[in-house]
Amino acid sequence: MAALSIKYMNLNFFSKKTDTLKKKIGIPRSFFYYFYPGLWETYFSEIGFIPVLSKPSNLNTANRASIISEAEHCFPIKLFDAHAEELLDSVDILFVPRIISMKKDYITCPKFGALPDAAAADVASDKPVLIIEINENKKPLKKTLFELGCDLKVPSLKVKNAIEKAYNRMYLERELLMKTKYKEDAPTFLILGHPYILHDPFISGMIIKKLNELKVNIEIFSFSKEYSSETNIMWCTSNKMYHKISTMEKSQYNGIIQIAAFNCGCDSMMIETFRPVINEKKIPYMVLIIDEHSAQAGLDTRLEAFIDSTGW
Ligand code: SF4
Repeated sequence: MAALSIKYMNLNFFSKKTDTLKKKIGIPRSFFYYFYPGLWETYFSEIGFIPVLSKPSNLNTANRASIISEAEHCFPIKLFDAHAEELLDSVDILFVPRIISMKKDYITCPKFGALPDAAAADVASDKPVLIIEINENKKPLKKTLFELGCDLKVPSLKVKNAIEKAYNRMYLERELLMKTKYKEDAPTFLILGHPYILHDPFISGMIIKKLNELKVNIEIFSFSKEYSSETNIMWCTSNKMYHKISTMEKSQYNGIIQIAAFNCGCDSMMIETFRPVINEKKIPYMVLIIDEHSAQAGLDTRLEAFIDSTGW
């Protein structure tokens, strides 16, 4: 067992079989949420909680993030703090997984490992935090979810059904996030970045909006479809991006736009690893670094100039 760890305010928080019932569990709609869209709210609802999601990121979330979060954090962690804070008054417990590995033989950025402790010590210091460890190098997530349900005293059949429904919902949500309509005679641009960058409406929203106005085709990079490359890049999302750019044909894309977060240690190294591979294929490449001060006008100018430079 031992899937579960709770920073208890009350040692009897989950002492009875019915204790998950009607307890409101807060799920920040940022960061790890976009690795597993739809999964957490479905799973927790099916085992008896009332899941409460924070609102999608917007300018207010970004402003709040810059006020309450540590200045040295990367932007997605700052946004996570604002999402967590938004939930605190309306939930009984906050859910923050410790993600060590989402894919066997690979690891995540180390900031995911420290996230629950950072949240419990800071933004959620007055709230119980429900923590599970996701480490595909040790056990598959489905097994972790099963153990969590059992630790919470939910009947095992109910937990199994919850896992199945949660996975089905996640597969559906991933498809919806990736839907692209291709226009004939329009150039196609690949949008590259970590899932919590590509699908967060504040981080990528202004860029997607402008590209739609420019009437170009955009293909949002899909982590669920992409394979990994045999390289020494151990961060799973960076490895999949590397695999994509190293196996793509020049004719597939008119350009690549990578969206990166301010203060991202991984991207600061990976961008310089990707650049020569993309240059060799002679595909135009632009990196946009987003933080809480990014504004539509500045991004519009850069995007227009980039699309122009590709000959469209
Ligand atoms: S990969 Fe970059 S943006 Fe993502 S958590 Fe790590 S430092 Fe932050």
